[in-house]
Amino acid sequence: MNHFGKSFIGGRWVEPRGSQVFELVNPATEQPITSLRAGSVEDVDAAVKAARAAFPAFADTPVAQRLALLERIVECFQAREAEVLAAITREMGAPCSNKGMTGAAIDGFKAAHATLRDYRFEHVLGPNLVRREAIGVCGLITAWNWPAQLLATKAAYALAAGCTMVLKPSEFTPMTAHLVTEILDEAGVPPGVFNLVHGDGPTVGNAICRHPEVDCISFTGSTRAGVQIGEAAAATIKRVALELGGKSANIVLPDADLALAAEWNVTRAFSNTGQSCHAPTRMLVHESQVDEVLRLISAAVSRVRVGDPLDPATTMGPLVNQAQFERVQRYIRIGLDEGARLVCGGLGRPEGLATGYYVRPTVFADVTPAMTIAQEEIFGPVIAVLAYRTEDEALAIANGTPYGLGGYVFTRDAARGTAVGRRLRAGRVFLNGVPSNPMAPMGGYKRSGNGREMGPFGLEEYLEVKAMIGFPLPTDAG
Ligand code: NAD
Repeated sequence: MNHFGKSFIGGRWVEPRGSQVFELVNPATEQPITSLRAGSVEDVDAAVKAARAAFPAFADTPVAQRLALLERIVECFQAREAEVLAAITREMGAPCSNKGMTGAAIDGFKAAHATLRDYRFEHVLGPNLVRREAIGVCGLITAWNWPAQLLATKAAYALAAGCTMVLKPSEFTPMTAHLVTEILDEAGVPPGVFNLVHGDGPTVGNAICRHPEVDCISFTGSTRAGVQIGEAAAATIKRVALELGGKSANIVLPDADLALAAEWNVTRAFSNTGQSCHAPTRMLVHESQVDEVLRLISAAVSRVRVGDPLDPATTMGPLVNQAQFERVQRYIRIGLDEGARLVCGGLGRPEGLATGYYVRPTVFADVTPAMTIAQEEIFGPVIAVLAYRTEDEALAIANGTPYGLGGYVFTRDAARGTAVGRRLRAGRVFLNGVPSNPMAPMGGYKRSGNGREMGPFGLEEYLEVKAMIGFPLPTDAG
């Protein structure tokens, strides 16, 4: 990794000019890794100017040229995939066996390629032509929890659209962002099209959101920061696409395969140590089946291997940092104080893991919908099991939080599952734990956000719409 810690502006690695210095800590050992100087407001301005200068030519590139670029990015990423995964393991503690961390990033570039290949930028609407054009300079601000996938998805679709961009990755995962920037450079992304400035939210992130030459913001992170970003971007009327937190419910209907539902819920909720926005953190079970489901859940939890992320047998690594560790402990304490019944896990570190931000995979039963652990995003391996009596009650509980990101239904009756899925107020709903699809739109209802990523809906976040009225219609427009 050459030039680590520098900003990447206009195709060159340059020294950041901020005064803040971040200490990176390995969450598995609590030992320092390295430090990182943040960029400054001036660095943001230089990056935005570089992106603005590169925009007209890049927006004008033929689709075939952008398709070829995305193909080269996939090749370069595949060649360095192991290196990127090693950086993710080191800086945020994801187990080395979690190849999805980088696989999902590469899939993001492949899906953007497939989307662009099939996309029609112009179509006829009555006597008019409707045309979509690259929106301009994009500010991309990302979280640390899927550090390669989040920034890859944003960059892939912005490139596909013909946009130029400034990325501010999470201050907790700068090594991953650095490597992906190197990959984009190696693949031949033209100078100024992709720029990187490290830093925190209130300084560098805020400067991107306020900059008058930035046309849109694509943000993934907490609802708290999403509100601040919306406010900062409002003065310049930027388009803002927010991908925020979640408290997703899994409705297990009485006819479901309970063993499958329990095993899937535990695996999915505890993957990435519960630090996934779509995690099914609320499991809704018919009151007559709670005891049986809790037995199945306990058996599934006993198979979770918490430990060193460098051990290939580990399925759950540490949390990302001390603050996240304390946050999860606080929520477990609140769950106990509010009267939820502990089924597995609880406060403190797992046995034998005295160092590192490790937590115990935790399951609560007798959770009621109003409890804090049933309402707020914990972002750690904590499942709340809630009992319901009727399908209507299950839906009311599922829809009864400020969030609306993911939703899950388990049933053997596909028609009933579809009816329930339709009534979930969430952006992505899944039947019986089917795998995710990188072309399906991803985004939230309510305070889980207002944007969509992936596939044609994701591409359109980076496109403006132009109506051409009275102009001759092209013969090849769709
Ligand atoms: P965070 O909101 O603390 O930080 C996210 C990013 O925003 C970081 O780069 C941070 O520096 C920046 N930031 C913070 N405040 C800012 C401000 N005022 N202005 C500009 N930038 C600012 O979130 P996090 O802890 O990094 O990530 C966890 C959160 O992300 C969880 O809530 C999770 O649900 C959410 N998330 C959502 C999705 C999704 O697709 N909906 C995906 C992954 C993570």
